[in-house]
Amino acid sequence: MDKPLDIVILGGGTAGWMAAAALSALLPAGRRRMRLVESDEIGIVGVGEATLPHIKNFNDSIGIDEADMMRATNATFKLGIHFVDWGFKGSSYIHPFGVHGSAQAGLGFHQQWRRSLDAGRDWDIQDFSFACVAANANRFDFPAVGKSTVNSTYSYAYHFDASLYAQYLRRFVEARGVQRIEGKVRDVEQDPDTGDIRALVLESGERIAGQFFIDCSGFRSLLLAGRFGTGWDDWSKWLPCDRAMPVPTERCGDLTPYTRVIAMNAGWRWRIPLQHRTGNGYVFSSRFIDEDKARAELLNSLGEPLLAEPRMLKFQAGRRVHSWARNCVALGLSSGFLEPLESTSIYLIQIAIMHLLELIPTKGHDQRLVDEFNLRMDLEYERIRDFLILHYHLNSREDTELWRYCAAMDVPDSLRRRIGLFRHSGIVEQYRHGLFTPPSWLSVYLGQGLTPEHYSPLADAAPLNRALKDLDEIREDIRDRVDEMPKHASFVARYAGAPQVDDRHLHEAEVRL
Ligand SMILES: Cc1cc2nc3c(=O)[nH]c(=O)nc-3n(C[C@H](O)[C@H](O)[C@H](O)COP(=O)(O)OP(=O)(O)OC[C@H]3O[C@@H](n4cnc5c(N)ncnc54)[C@H](O)[C@@H]3O)c2cc1C
Repeated sequence: MDKPLDIVILGGGTAGWMAAAALSALLPAGRRRMRLVESDEIGIVGVGEATLPHIKNFNDSIGIDEADMMRATNATFKLGIHFVDWGFKGSSYIHPFGVHGSAQAGLGFHQQWRRSLDAGRDWDIQDFSFACVAANANRFDFPAVGKSTVNSTYSYAYHFDASLYAQYLRRFVEARGVQRIEGKVRDVEQDPDTGDIRALVLESGERIAGQFFIDCSGFRSLLLAGRFGTGWDDWSKWLPCDRAMPVPTERCGDLTPYTRVIAMNAGWRWRIPLQHRTGNGYVFSSRFIDEDKARAELLNSLGEPLLAEPRMLKFQAGRRVHSWARNCVALGLSSGFLEPLESTSIYLIQIAIMHLLELIPTKGHDQRLVDEFNLRMDLEYERIRDFLILHYHLNSREDTELWRYCAAMDVPDSLRRRIGLFRHSGIVEQYRHGLFTPPSWLSVYLGQGLTPEHYSPLADAAPLNRALKDLDEIREDIRDRVDEMPKHASFVARYAGAPQVDDRHLHEAEVRL
């Protein structure tokens, strides 16, 4: 057996602690030695409150107890994302974590739905999604497991306090013997022949030597960009937002089991319900609005008392041209940034960790592993990029400059091809690597107002009356089952109520656990 790999993680934000948690839980102790360096003085970005269902697999795989984690992070459940005013002013749709209807003989369900339009029905596709109907009713329950019933056709994620999640992972990791070193990195030592990193040098003079380095230093990208000079792919011509102004407010009103994202004059704002407060923020483009006006627009739109003053974060959409160089791999913000419209950043950290675990070197540098990792991450980033652009490009708002620019802009060829296929007859591409399966693309195409010109001829294989009856039954079945679910607020309070939450907020009495 090879000797243990000496791993040094730089950074203790979500990326650093997720990497430390996964590696300490899944890489046998005899195969690694691990230390994590972070600076309290620098701190973490501390936003990132909405997740995707994959996070549950991550937590499960490393042995985190769901209810315990939710209690510690003031978490709530999330069934999808509610888009308001995106396709046009007054429009509204949910991108759910789940399918619409059920796949029929290899043919997408939406083909029968599209056929129903030609037959004179005006059924809303969302009424065929269990997750959409439950979200709109503010209800939550766990999906049925091992069944083919309609309440098994969705999954869920969490809204949580990102700083508390990082602290939770830290406790988890330290309990597994990983050493945390407090200090600011002042210098980086490299091998003069190969360029491999040999050690981080702290301001105190302490030297942290290692064989493999994980750069989780956030937007600074101290190792990948700072040391290896890895270039940046700028995607801002397609994703022009470059500022975010987060601001927490008091928790008021219903605890919704979804993130809400509302289109604004020069971007969009988010609303994320946690047990103890609501996370809000305005993501906007400084090309189309100045910071003072953006601040005023945000504050005017919030109906709840502020818990702090808005902060300002600057970014550029894009990514490092590769994430792994020599003996250093970058995770999280140090490897790229895509705006949080579809809550993809924590997913990107998670998937990068999973690829890393499969491709982890046994000792020194091996270019085959590096190339494979970078190839996989290219696909991950580019597919998310295209999916985000889709939301901006398919709009008919015309009321402000940002929306007119996005509707008129040239999009990447990969996205133009996909939109063309869907526009023709609802063809949704299924790919092997990368986030967002056909139900997600379908929700956004339709939600943004793109209805296919035709339906697939294969749909006519089923008699029309029969197909319409089946559709109607699915809608009814979903409605009936959703009516039996507990209210989301009650479910959270019973299953994972955080100790400091005032029960008066949990005004929905119905509890059926
Ligand atoms: C406005 C906004 C909203 C977001 N919303 C979401 C969301 O809803 N969902 C989602 O999935 N993601 C979201 N994200 C992204 C998410 O916040 C990040 O992906 C996540 O927090 C990971 O950050 P990180 O660990 O890479 O960096 P950071 O949190 O910045 O951590 C960097 C670490 O590096 C350390 N460090 C840096 N330099 C040094 C040094 N010289 N010496 C020692 N230590 C150093 C710091 O101390 C810190 O510990 C959002 C991002 C922004 C900006």
